[in-house]
Amino acid sequence: MHFQTVQVGLNNIFQRFGSPVKGLVMVDPDCDQVVDLAKLTSLDEEHILGTLRDRYNKQQIYTYIGDILISINPYKLLPIYENGVSDRYREQPRTCLPPHIFAIANSAYCGAVGEGSSSSESQCVVISGESGAGKTEGTKLLVRHIMEMCKGHSQLEQQILQVHPLLEAFGNARTIRNNNSSRFGKFLQLRFLGRSVVGAKINEYLLEKSRLVHQDSGEGNFHVFHYMFAGMQPNEKESYGLIEPQFYRYLCSGELPEEQKETLSESFQDLCNAMNLVGFQKQEQTDLLTLLAGILSLGNVTFTEQETSGVAITGQALKWLNTAVNQLGVGTEQLYNCLTSSCSTMRGEEIRKLYTQQQAEDARDSMAKAIYARLFSWIVLKINQLVASKSNERLTEMREIGILDIFGFEKFEMNRFEQLCINLANEQLQFFFNKHVFQLEQEAYQQDGIECDLVSYEDNKPLLDLFLGKPIGLMTLMDEESRFPKGSDVTFVEKLNRNFSNNSNYEVVQGVKGDPKFAVKHYAGKVVYSASGCLEKNRDSLHADIGKILTGSEVHLLCQVFGGKISRTGTLHLPVLKGSESHVVSSKKTVGAQFRQSLFVLIEKMAASRPHFIRCLKPNEEKTPDNFQSELVREQLHNNGLLETTRIRRGGFSWRPSFAEFIDGYGVVLLRPSVARTKESCLEVLNEVALEGWKTGKDRLFFKYWHQDELSQYVLRL
Ligand code: ATP
Ligand code: MG
Repeated sequence: MHFQTVQVGLNNIFQRFGSPVKGLVMVDPDCDQVVDLAKLTSLDEEHILGTLRDRYNKQQIYTYIGDILISINPYKLLPIYENGVSDRYREQPRTCLPPHIFAIANSAYCGAVGEGSSSSESQCVVISGESGAGKTEGTKLLVRHIMEMCKGHSQLEQQILQVHPLLEAFGNARTIRNNNSSRFGKFLQLRFLGRSVVGAKINEYLLEKSRLVHQDSGEGNFHVFHYMFAGMQPNEKESYGLIEPQFYRYLCSGELPEEQKETLSESFQDLCNAMNLVGFQKQEQTDLLTLLAGILSLGNVTFTEQETSGVAITGQALKWLNTAVNQLGVGTEQLYNCLTSSCSTMRGEEIRKLYTQQQAEDARDSMAKAIYARLFSWIVLKINQLVASKSNERLTEMREIGILDIFGFEKFEMNRFEQLCINLANEQLQFFFNKHVFQLEQEAYQQDGIECDLVSYEDNKPLLDLFLGKPIGLMTLMDEESRFPKGSDVTFVEKLNRNFSNNSNYEVVQGVKGDPKFAVKHYAGKVVYSASGCLEKNRDSLHADIGKILTGSEVHLLCQVFGGKISRTGTLHLPVLKGSESHVVSSKKTVGAQFRQSLFVLIEKMAASRPHFIRCLKPNEEKTPDNFQSELVREQLHNNGLLETTRIRRGGFSWRPSFAEFIDGYGVVLLRPSVARTKESCLEVLNEVALEGWKTGKDRLFFKYWHQDELSQYVLRL
């Protein structure tokens, strides 16, 4: 890689140390192009789009907007991730090198471990973008580079690197938009003591478990199923009771092309290796695969309507039932009964209600989904246990880097409960971004009397109020309706229409009979939601008799994930399902309420750390290299508020430490044993470093985003 830099006159530091002058406006050799959009001479949309397109056409997929990184998916492997490149980003300041995701990793790591400054603080990296824009690949590159920075070659570092293949096997799937689409959100926290990583923790959000039992055409089930068939030897498949994949209803995508089989087979090996390296025991792995086979067999249990009433399981379906019984370690009669009828007690008397065909299919699918979802949560818990930090006594000294890779905004032909939750999460993240980038910054100028042009931006607070308002918000109304025994998707939408018909972000939609709809005007466009199945998904209930037989399973892992009695020391317990008086067991909170709560915790955590933003863009819908579709990118620039961001980054002062914070970090420059945490000392430091272009406020200093890099460089050279 070659790069050329031009001087802009600020870098006296480098001159002082006789190093090559590294200016702030970097241009790439071939195109004479600015690598920071905030430094373009003209900030109109065409110019910004044109710059991104020209850079992309020259394989320069990364561009800065000040301290924010834009990344465009190249859909091909570029030679920019080798170890040599990683080393350069570790050794040289960001301003000397072309924009890169490694530079963001560097900043986050240095900030967390206090390199280039004598204070450290927790960091978070928020990676956003549409499905297929490159968030997960970006996350992996970040983690890889951060582990390179630690370079302790510890077992923990190796374990952390294996977390992704493991999670992706169980939580990713092929979709129309992305062949490796994450069907869950995750927040990965890396914990540091000094320069070493000492632990990690994953939070997972909202696994799209409906995919297990139904995939739209052209899409696949979770990768792990496909890996199993491609990677297992015939005798292994036999021992797990598996036959060819095309015979399973849950894998309707059927036989895979030969060339894909090979990569899938390798992925199966990678998964097995990852499980070994992270520390899953052999028995746990066997149980896991057995249960996956059990889920597939369960899916093949079909029902025949009886003449009088109810349904029966006969013929081939009965054989599948027996296979499932063996794989899931449950009783034949119990499984038969709980798939074809429900049992409740009234005044001490047991009442059995026979299912219709639809109810039986729903019971089967909800059982399969519950097993898969609990196994997924268990995998995450298990990983967390294996990579947890051991040195809890030094908790206050620990710093974290949190990396958020969460589903982007979704707008499909058919949008359901899942899209509603995902889009709510995106509204909250956009709010966090706006708050950080615009609101706090502009408030700080006003408070400190700093003169700076105010940039207007789209405030999405009214939209958050529509969702989360109390007592009347869309989500609380959904919970309320979910609790009414007579509540239905139709009554839910009626309630929304009654409450929000005057809300400018809500639109009443005339749905067809039986498919009630409503629309929300999101920051990224209007989305029409179908409420069908909404309450059921929100309640996420599992019939008590199904819960009971799973709790009593002879397969240790299944029994364990459902909170059953078998308990060995050191095993993990997920929250125990609570049985209610009626025939339904459910976790106490609705799915919507749990999700809201976890988002709240997440945002609090992020607000308490220094954020870095990576905005991923998708150049085309065809997943092809060298194909930049301007209109598609333009739409994403709008949806992300990136044009306004460019404006504020150009004019603004994005780093605003208080006098005390500044002295804690950079007082060392004065080479004195103690430095007072005052404005005067700050000015002394700044004079010493000969930094230019900053401002002083009443209580804090106002810096351009590049000043921190310059100061760190100075400190490193002391
Ligand atoms: P989703 O929201 O569906 O999970 P995503 O934003 O996480 O999408 P990725 O899975 O990271 O998207 O990327 C999709 C595909 O694009 C990858 O499987 C890979 O083929 C390609 N890709 C992404 N980033 C890069 C990159 N930096 N270099 C090469 N290819 C990439
Ligand atoms: Mg992803």
